[in-house]
Amino acid sequence: MRLSSARLDEIALDLVEPFETSFGVEKRRRFLLLRLESRDGLVGYGECVASTDPLYSSESNLSARDMLARHFLPGILGASDLSPEKFRATVARFRGNSMSKAAVETALVDLAAKERGVSVARFLGASRARIPVGVSVGIQPSVAALVRRVGEYLEDGYARVKLKVKPGWDDGPVGAVRRAYPDLDLWVDANQAYPPSAVGAIRSWAERHRVAQVEQPFPERAIRAHAKLARGAPFRVCLDESIVDPESLEDALDAGAVTSVNVKVGRVGGLLTGRSLAVRAARSGVPAWVGGMLESGIGRAHNVALAARPEMTLPGDLSASDRYYRQDLIERPFLLGPGSTLEVPKGPGIGVEVSERAIRRYRRSTKTFRPAR
Ligand SMILES: [Mg+2]
Repeated sequence: MRLSSARLDEIALDLVEPFETSFGVEKRRRFLLLRLESRDGLVGYGECVASTDPLYSSESNLSARDMLARHFLPGILGASDLSPEKFRATVARFRGNSMSKAAVETALVDLAAKERGVSVARFLGASRARIPVGVSVGIQPSVAALVRRVGEYLEDGYARVKLKVKPGWDDGPVGAVRRAYPDLDLWVDANQAYPPSAVGAIRSWAERHRVAQVEQPFPERAIRAHAKLARGAPFRVCLDESIVDPESLEDALDAGAVTSVNVKVGRVGGLLTGRSLAVRAARSGVPAWVGGMLESGIGRAHNVALAARPEMTLPGDLSASDRYYRQDLIERPFLLGPGSTLEVPKGPGIGVEVSERAIRRYRRSTKTFRPAR
């Protein structure tokens, strides 16, 4: 495969409602979208999940733009025999910058799948037609508002709910949701908000409210604290931010710090690494699932394809399009189907029709790169 152009757009999409986590409030998502065109006229898309500020990880839109424009795009535009695997090997020498790498890798996977005439799911060796999904509920203005919001999602058809928690927004709100919905598959996610000294307190309320999974309560590198929490716990301890590559997963498994893996394509540098992490976790009997970063329909399509892998046995944070955006970048939105599921697109590549009209409408800047002559 050879490329004829790479286009980098900065998009701004308003969220249906503000999304609050322990990091802060997001009202609008600003992100980079990459469009690669091959010399054969095929087009592949990749979404970069970095945000304006480096809060979830050290990457931001500005750092991603710099990595893409200076290092990754000149490399792929000059390559004569391009593939997602070769790209992954070539950029391994650049440290970190996983979200920027993933933007390119996912676009290349889309192209490579289209070249073969198969879906991204098929390209990744996945065969499920539908995947189980849940919804992630941000921190709400009050406990009553939270209980109401959860009720609305249950009415929409979501069977699994994940609450964002932080110190001061945990025992009370989680308990209220549990009392209102005694049979709910209830998860929580703290995005690293607790100090390691909170092990005992977290275990106490999580056990009392029959929480099925506690995600990333402690800082990224606090593997020992996560292991302490996981020891003998009646709930799964899920790692998200801590798992950035195969080595960090290996260490966490070895320490007994992880009993569920949140695989995020952007955090780990792409779909191929995401798949291998899930395969590795499954070998140790640890279930995996696909997390979300408030992606548009384009990033969502890549995530849904990965979630169709057999190792992804837990419902992902991959809700229907209308949970995030009124107007998406794809023609037909993802809809919630029977049994809290999303359909895995079957068409070539990401299998969704990208709306170039919507992209033109919501983009704040655009730049096209071409091979040097
Ligand atoms: Mg998380």
